[in-house]
Amino acid sequence: MTFSADSHAKIIIIGGGAIGCSVAYHLAKAGEKDVVLLEKAQITEGCTWHAAGLVGQLRSKRNLTRLMQNSVAVFDRLEKESGLATDWKKDGSIRLASSPDRWSEIRRAMTQAKSFGAKCHSLSAAEAKEKFPFITTDGVVGAAFIPSDGYVDPYALTQSFAKAARLNGAIIKEGVTVRDIVVENRRAVGVVTDSGNYSCDILVNCAGLWAKRVGEMAGVPLAAGVVQHQYFVTEKTLEFEADLPTLRDPDNNFYLKPDVAAFAIGGWEEGTTGCWRGKPPMDFGRELFEENYDRLALFATLAANRLPILNETGIRTVINGPIPVSADGEPIMGLAPELDNFYVACGFTAGIAASGGAGLALANWIIEGDPGMDLWSFDVRRFGPQHCNGRFLEQRAIEAYAAYYKIHWPGEEPLAARPARRSPLYETLKKQGAVYGSKSGWERPNYFSTGAREVYSFEGKPNWFDVVGQECKAVRERVALIDQSSFSKFEITGPGAFEYMQNLAANTIEKTPGKCTYT
Ligand SMILES: Cc1cc2nc3c(=O)[nH]c(=O)nc-3n(C[C@H](O)[C@H](O)[C@H](O)COP(=O)(O)OP(=O)(O)OC[C@H]3O[C@@H](n4cnc5c(N)ncnc54)[C@H](O)[C@@H]3O)c2cc1C
Repeated sequence: MTFSADSHAKIIIIGGGAIGCSVAYHLAKAGEKDVVLLEKAQITEGCTWHAAGLVGQLRSKRNLTRLMQNSVAVFDRLEKESGLATDWKKDGSIRLASSPDRWSEIRRAMTQAKSFGAKCHSLSAAEAKEKFPFITTDGVVGAAFIPSDGYVDPYALTQSFAKAARLNGAIIKEGVTVRDIVVENRRAVGVVTDSGNYSCDILVNCAGLWAKRVGEMAGVPLAAGVVQHQYFVTEKTLEFEADLPTLRDPDNNFYLKPDVAAFAIGGWEEGTTGCWRGKPPMDFGRELFEENYDRLALFATLAANRLPILNETGIRTVINGPIPVSADGEPIMGLAPELDNFYVACGFTAGIAASGGAGLALANWIIEGDPGMDLWSFDVRRFGPQHCNGRFLEQRAIEAYAAYYKIHWPGEEPLAARPARRSPLYETLKKQGAVYGSKSGWERPNYFSTGAREVYSFEGKPNWFDVVGQECKAVRERVALIDQSSFSKFEITGPGAFEYMQNLAANTIEKTPGKCTYT
C-alpha cells in the first residue's frame, strides 16, 4: 500500500517542547527549508511549561557536559536572533560538596570540563558562602563555581526557538495531534493527524512525555519513562542581590533557583511515583499533579538544614509535574535502529538545559549523519526492547530519578527491576559467589567474590581487581566454561563471511564446522 497524503514535508518533527522547537530551529538555520513541526496543543504544553529552568553544565558524564556547553552557546545568542526575550540569566552556579567523596567527584568533573574549555573554579566553604550568603558551611568540603551557568524561562526560551525556527523558514503547526505513523519498507512515510495526513522523508520524535507512545505508532520501542517531580517556591519575603547564582547541594539532594524575592527549590527524592507506565493519555495537557508533601519533605528538610532561612519562610506554591526519565536516566537520541528515517530526541530529565545542545546535535545527525560529538551514552541503540517493557522501565526510571544527584561510581550497577533475564546457570554460579551485573536486562556475573563487599571508589583499583585477574589467568592458562546466555548472537553467512569475521577478530577463527573460537 502506498500512503496517500494531503501534504508533504521533507522533515516532520512531532512535538513542540523545548527539544522539538530547538531541533526545528537548528535544522532550519542549517538550511533545511522544508521542516514542519506538529504540536498537539500549544508550544510548551508538555513538560516544558512547568520546568524550573535551571541550566547547569557540570555533569558526571563528559559528553553531557559538552552538550550543555553547546546549549549555553545557543542561549547566549538566541534572543538576538529571534527578537524574543528568553530571560536567560547567566549569573553562575555553585555546586557544593558536602562530603569528601563528592568533592572527589566534583573535582574530576571540573577537570573534564576544563579539558574542553569550560570555565569553572574551586571554592572553599567560606568563598561559597560569600557568593551565596544564605548557606551554612557545616560539612562543606569545597565547592565548584561555574560562571557561565544560570537559569532561563522555559516558556520564553521555547517560544524564542520557535520564532527563530520560523524566521529561518520552518513551519510550526499547533493543535495538530499525530494519531498514527505509516511505515513502509523500514521507512516512516507519513503521519495521520486529526487535521489530515502528511507524508515525509524524515520523521523526528520529540514528543517528550509522549515519546514512548509516539515510538510505538512506528513500531519503535523506546525506554522513555515518566515519573513525578516536584519543586516548591517560597513566599516572596527574601532579600538578595539580583545576580545571586543558582545553588546545588547534591549530598543534600536539592537544587535552588533564585526567583523574585523567593527561592524555587527542587530535589530528587527516593521512591517517586511512576506515571502511566511511560504512556500518558494523549489528552493530558497543561496539567499538574496534586502536591505530595511527604515526598517534598524528603529534600525540603535537607535544604532547610543547609539554608536555615527556610525554617522561617513559608511555601507559596508546589509544582508537581510529570518529567521524562529514561531507563538509565540519560537522554535518548539518534536514528532508531528499527527504521531508516525515524530520529528520536526524548527522555530528557534536564531538557531545558540540554535543549540548545541536543537540537544542534540532532540536526547534525539528520543532515550530516553524525551528531558532531560522541553521543554513544545517549544513543537510542543502547537500549533493547527489554528496557521498554512498562514495568521494567518504570522501576528503572524511579531508581534513575533518585540517583540523579547520587555519586556515579565507575562500575556501578542498577539494582531496580532485577533479576530480570536469567541463564539456566544463574543459581549455580550464584552459589559459587557470582556477583551479578545487569547487561541488556540479563544477569551476568561481573566477577566471583571472595566474600569482601564491593567498595566503589574513584581512586586506585577496585577491590574486585585481583579476583578478575585470577579469572583471566585461569582462562589463559587452563580451561574455562563461559556462559554466553547474556551475550548477543549474530549470524553471518554467505560469500566473504570468513574474511569479514577474521578481519574483526583478534584471534584466528579458521576452524572446521562445529568448533568455535573465543575472541
Ligand atoms: C517540576 C519540573 C521541574 C523541572 N525543572 C527543570 C530544570 O530546572 N531544568 C531543566 O533543564 N529541566 C527541567 N525539567 C525537565 C524539563 O521540563 C524537560 O526535560 C523538558 O521540558 C522536556 O522537553 P521535551 O521537548 O522533550 O518534552 P515536552 O515538553 O513534553 O514536549 C513534547 C511535546 O510534544 C507534544 N506531543 C506529544 N505527542 C504528540 C503527538 N502525538 N502529536 C503532536 N504533538 C505531540 C506535546 O504536546 C508536547 O508539547 C523539569 C521538569 C519538571 C516536571
